Amino acid sequence: MSDQFTLAVAKGRILNESLPLLAAAGIRPSEDPQKSRRLILETNVPGVRLMVIRSADVPTFVQFGAADLGIVGKDVLMEHDGEDLYEMLDLGIARCRLMVAEPSTLAATDDPAQWRRLRIATKYVHTTRRHFAAKGIQTEVIKLYGSMELAPLAGLADRIVDLVDTGNTLRANGLVEVEKITDISARLIANRAALKMRHQAVQELVNKLAAAVASAAGPGE
Ligand code: AMP
Repeated sequence: MSDQFTLAVAKGRILNESLPLLAAAGIRPSEDPQKSRRLILETNVPGVRLMVIRSADVPTFVQFGAADLGIVGKDVLMEHDGEDLYEMLDLGIARCRLMVAEPSTLAATDDPAQWRRLRIATKYVHTTRRHFAAKGIQTEVIKLYGSMELAPLAGLADRIVDLVDTGNTLRANGLVEVEKITDISARLIANRAALKMRHQAVQELVNKLAAAVASAAGPGE
C-alpha cells in the first residue's frame, strides 16, 4: 500500500509542463487531463492518482491531507499561509517573476529608494505586505482577482504587484517593472502526514522527478 498517493496538480500551464516530468518519472494519466472533465485521474501506476484543481486550492488540499502531494507555483505557496506544508523540489517549470510595476510616466521620475508609502493593487496581498513591511515601507494594498494592469490606468492604485513572464502584458498597458520581489517556478509540495506515512513512495517520486528536472534543464545547468 505504501506506493499509493494522490498528487494534486494546478491546472493550466503547470499541469501542461508537469506532464512530461511525470512521464519521465514513470507516471502517465490513464486519460488526457487536458481533454477529460474528470477531476481525479487514475494513472498507469496502480494506486497513484492525479487530482487536477485550481492553482489556489492546491495548498489547501495538501495541507488538509485530501491530497498527499501537490504541484503548484511558488507565488501561490507564498500567498497561502497554511502550516504543515513541505516544499520538496523546485521543478523549474512555469518560470516567471513576481514584480512591482508602475506606469512608465511615473517610473521616469520615481526612485524606489525613496518609497515610504505605496498604494498597490494585487492578487498577492500577503506577499506584498510582507515584502514591503520587511523594508519598512508602508503599504495600502488593494486586493484584485484579475487584470492588475488595469488598476494604474483606472486610477485605482499607483503600482501593482503581478507575475511577469515576457513583459508583453505590462508593455501593452504602458507599465514597466521597477522592483523584483522574487523569481517564481512550480514546486512539489507534501504534507507532514504523507512524509511520515508514505516516506518511501514520496522519496522515490522526489528522486525520479529530480532526475527528470535535471535532464530537462540540460547539461551545465
Ligand atoms: P507576460 O505578458 O508574458 O509577461 O505574462 C504576464 C501575464 O501572464 C500576467 O497576467 C501573469 O499573471 C501571467 N503569467 C505569467 N507567467 C505565469 C506563470 N508562470 N504562472 C501563472 N501566470 C503567469
